[in-house]
Amino acid sequence: MRLLDLSQPLFDQAPNCPSHPPVRFTRIADHPEKGWRVETIAFATHTGSHVDAPLHRVAGGKSLSDLPLETWVGPALIADLRGIAPGGSIDAALLGRSLPADCADKIILLATGWGDKRAKTDEWLNQSPCLTASGAKWLVEHKVRGVGIDHYSISNLGPQNDETHAIVLGAGIWIVEELRFPPEVFSLPSPLKFWALPMNWPGCSGGFCRPVVEVD
Ligand SMILES: [Zn+2]
Repeated sequence: MRLLDLSQPLFDQAPNCPSHPPVRFTRIADHPEKGWRVETIAFATHTGSHVDAPLHRVAGGKSLSDLPLETWVGPALIADLRGIAPGGSIDAALLGRSLPADCADKIILLATGWGDKRAKTDEWLNQSPCLTASGAKWLVEHKVRGVGIDHYSISNLGPQNDETHAIVLGAGIWIVEELRFPPEVFSLPSPLKFWALPMNWPGCSGGFCRPVVEVD
């Protein structure tokens, strides 16, 4: 088995969601004087490639530890939206054109191209394409299992962000954010065998994961 890595690297001062604290990695011991190297990390649970559990947006919703591990592994379909304009709308019509009619229990991966633009630029921070309320409702109506995107949020930090997270997470659909799509992934047979196992952080609203696709 070969694994295709869909994660973004995380490092000190890495680009991240501007409403969260900056990413900090600190070396607290090193060779040769201590005989060991150790780092501490400080950042929000929703940093780098990570999942959102319903609790992220829904009071009383399920946390990471309320969801079985199998939740995060399953067949995935890519909506190839590369070429979408900055700030472009990912709405019901676009999803309908980009995905098959039967998406039941599938993990939908929105490939916008913004994963390749990851830097502290206005384009990456503020102008990513946004899942709209109609797009979020399309996902709910099609009974998908999860939805992923190659940006720190499915809807940037625009006015629709609160509503789209509420629609998706309120329906029990989980989210995986800050993916990166290597070119090879677009030529793999569909559906993809997708894994995004989050950390074992009881009660948390989300957590880091290592998203991968199995290649036969
Ligand atoms: Zn998140």
